[in-house]
Amino acid sequence: MGKKIDGKQIALQIRKEVQQKNEAFAAKYEMQPCLAVILVGNHPASLSYVQSKVKACKEVGMESRLIQLDAEVSEADLLKEIEKLNQDAYVDGILVQLPLPQHIHEDTVVYAIDPNKDVDGFHPINIGKMMLGVDTFYPCTPHGVIKMLEAISYDLCGKNVVVIGRSMIVGKPMAQLCLEQNATVTVCHSKTKDLTFYTKHADVIIVAVGKPLFLTEDQVSPGAVVIDVGINRNAKGKLVGDVDTESVLKVADYVTPVPGGVGPMTITMLLWNTIIAAERRVLAGTKNNHCFLG
Ligand code: NAP
Repeated sequence: MGKKIDGKQIALQIRKEVQQKNEAFAAKYEMQPCLAVILVGNHPASLSYVQSKVKACKEVGMESRLIQLDAEVSEADLLKEIEKLNQDAYVDGILVQLPLPQHIHEDTVVYAIDPNKDVDGFHPINIGKMMLGVDTFYPCTPHGVIKMLEAISYDLCGKNVVVIGRSMIVGKPMAQLCLEQNATVTVCHSKTKDLTFYTKHADVIIVAVGKPLFLTEDQVSPGAVVIDVGINRNAKGKLVGDVDTESVLKVADYVTPVPGGVGPMTITMLLWNTIIAAERRVLAGTKNNHCFLG
């Protein structure tokens, strides 16, 4: 029987590290790192996500600003709001909660964020730097997965990794970060023929499909590590992942549960990126301390 990887515990450890970095930052520069979160509309799931981010900032001693805009806001007005935050010398990280209403182009909005404040790691400059292996802001969910593997001392070097899903926020950056760790990476998607052939040959399977209990025991080889990125609601409204956790645990060495696996890591890596952004901006002389502590 395999083990569940405790994402909550790993996230807690990293948050303690972030908190210590924040305290050291505040002591040295007499100001706090600051994350600005823009929410357009009041979709309950998005509202709950941004509230969790604001709460997480508070818990680690970070400033946050929540900017709530009407669902009808024009793209131009949203871009103006982003530009104000780009120019604000106190703001270190900017996050626009996705998805956006249909009349707004997500790409235009993401591209408008100053890459030095793009703590989600979605700006093409940061994606490009990640591809080049240059230090940058990595997208939070895949970065969190790498941190989880580190936490169980799992070395990806030379391992066969199968990533199922090729979205820009999870699958593609996930594949790149595993490649950077010298894994041999296969990316599977909805057009992949004989998915089980690939998963059966994998040391690590990372599932980001968005289909409840998609990966089952018969698709996994003994000793595999299975990372479940999925967040879905089943027919009873219960939160479930993309992996049939209990059955896969019979063959795999490790599985991340849902909830309590990858989920807590995502916000944690957002906090991580924000303190890094603040440190870099102070060093570059672009963060002002006009908002002193106390
Ligand atoms: P997405 O943009 O919908 O991408 C889903 C991917 O799954 C696509 O690449 C799709 O292939 C692939 N896929 C669909 N059906 C498949 C099949 N039958 N076989 C193989 N591949 C298949 O989703 P996403 O944004 O990456 O999110 C994926 C899941 O992760 C969702 O449940 C989401 O809620 C969750 N998520 C969790 C976190 C977290 O913090 N834990 C963060 C982000 C996302 P095609 O490209 O060919 O269509």
